[in-house]
Amino acid sequence: MIEARLSSVQRRTVARAGLDDIADKVVSEQRLSYEDGIRLFASPDLAAIGALANLVRERLHGDLTYFNRNIHINATNVCEASCIFCSFARLEEGMPAAYTMSIDEAVGRIAALQDAFITEVHIVNGLHPGLPFSYYTDLLRAIKAARPDLHIKGFTAVEMHYYAQKYGMTYAQVIEALREAGLESMPGGGAEIFHERARRKLCHDKVDAEGWLEVHRTAHRLGMRTNCTMLFGSIEKNEERVDHLVRLRELQDESLAARATDPSKGWFQTFIPLKFHNENNRLARLSAPTGHDALRTIAISRLMLDNIPHIKSYWIMLGQDIAQLSLSYGASDLDGTVREERIYHMAGAQTPQELTRNQLIHLIRAAGRIPVERDTHYNVVAEA
Ligand code: SF4
Repeated sequence: MIEARLSSVQRRTVARAGLDDIADKVVSEQRLSYEDGIRLFASPDLAAIGALANLVRERLHGDLTYFNRNIHINATNVCEASCIFCSFARLEEGMPAAYTMSIDEAVGRIAALQDAFITEVHIVNGLHPGLPFSYYTDLLRAIKAARPDLHIKGFTAVEMHYYAQKYGMTYAQVIEALREAGLESMPGGGAEIFHERARRKLCHDKVDAEGWLEVHRTAHRLGMRTNCTMLFGSIEKNEERVDHLVRLRELQDESLAARATDPSKGWFQTFIPLKFHNENNRLARLSAPTGHDALRTIAISRLMLDNIPHIKSYWIMLGQDIAQLSLSYGASDLDGTVREERIYHMAGAQTPQELTRNQLIHLIRAAGRIPVERDTHYNVVAEA
């Protein structure tokens, strides 16, 4: 069976890595188990794992590789949580580098683009203890008034949970109120690592794994599409990475089952492995994840998450070179042009603040893939 889908060189590589049985499952489209995931992470054979992930990627998408044109707005970095990997947050207003944009200021950044062609605003913020809930709904309404053509993807499950607690609302009430003000989809941030051991060390005072998953479950039930993430390369163990992927896969199973009977339901569109950065935070003593680990994690994510359509290589965090290479290791999306990214640049990311459409197209074409400009819901805007 392997012979039918892998080249002879790849077959030898897989055999040498002792992954024949996993390759059989991948080729015959069987689901990989938790134990398979552990074995893949234990294997140093990136070529073998990459060949299997690429097989899945090409089965799903051929050479098509997606990107969009977007802008990021981080309206405030004041945050009362204390995640030890975070370089972006400041505990209180008035601290060095703390900021909160006025609504006019935030909208002004979008208005300044004038007629520049973008399709999406991505909004993620700190957990500001002093802002009313109306700040967020006003922000959404003002953006929609300025640029009704833009899709607004915003507010992580961490933020949604915080608002629910702070303002005495259910998750559904928070999501509905934000949606009524203009929100159309949710990013996948804040998942970090679900496993209790790692999560307690990394981010003990924000939403736990069950809460994060329940916010997304609620969003899917309400018909909203969302993304999901995993922070990798800090203190987590391989078992905790696999546990994280399996929990996401289980929620996606639930959401897709609901969607099978009611097509208005939402689901996870994309999984984004987020590489830990080790500057300006309390984990600066740790080494940054290597390119090998990044590619391996992307590839294993593609293999384990058999029910999530896309694996996204977020070039801001990975760097352009690894993001481009990842297109042969399972990734089918490069994120977007971005403009004004703050969260990872404050953590030491050396990437530019923006890539142009032509630069993204060049990265994709040079990797032998076909660039496709998409909107947030993966509708094709243009084949480049
Ligand atoms: S990761 Fe998010 S929740 Fe945690 S401290 Fe940073 S901004 Fe706050």
